[in-house]
Amino acid sequence: MAQNKVAGPEIERLIQLLAKLPGLGPRSARRAALHLIKKKDQLLVPLAEAMGVAVDQVGVCSTCGTVDTSDPCAICADPRRDLSVLVVVEDVADLWALERAAAINARYHVLGGTLSPLDGIGPEDLNIASLIERCRIEEVEEVILAINATVEGQTTAHYVTDQLAHLEINITRLAHGVPVGGELDYLDDGTLSQALKARTRF
Ligand SMILES: [Zn+2]
Repeated sequence: MAQNKVAGPEIERLIQLLAKLPGLGPRSARRAALHLIKKKDQLLVPLAEAMGVAVDQVGVCSTCGTVDTSDPCAICADPRRDLSVLVVVEDVADLWALERAAAINARYHVLGGTLSPLDGIGPEDLNIASLIERCRIEEVEEVILAINATVEGQTTAHYVTDQLAHLEINITRLAHGVPVGGELDYLDDGTLSQALKARTRF
């Protein structure tokens, strides 16, 4: 039996679109839509305006592959960044995570995914050629592979390392091991043995 619609087609459309957002199912989409409608002036109008600006101005940085409202992006154009270090990430979300942590004052290169032969994703589908080109023409001394510790991520890291081998660049990767605040008893065997192998002097 078909469910009754809760409101007119305009509101139904809003709910359907919200339900496509990550983490929102139909139920939470209805709640979000109702919240937006109730807070029309404080939330719905500014959100619609912000989305309009995003539609008009957001694009991909032709240098590093992140998303921003300018090209080159704010990070690539920032003169205070250390030009000698490039941090390679899979996705813009990873770049944002590193920037949130304010852990490094370097520039980035977004691969746009990982190598995955089973899904038909090869080197030409990722921003690898542009990474090699940047390393060749820019003053890069170190490439940090901040790539996820998944099988695909590590395969990608090995491939990128091979492709950069002919350049005189230090290639490093993030440490694998015990998370800050982590308890050994809760770690999986792979993480625990990696942490032991990568132990450092106290
Ligand atoms: Zn950029």
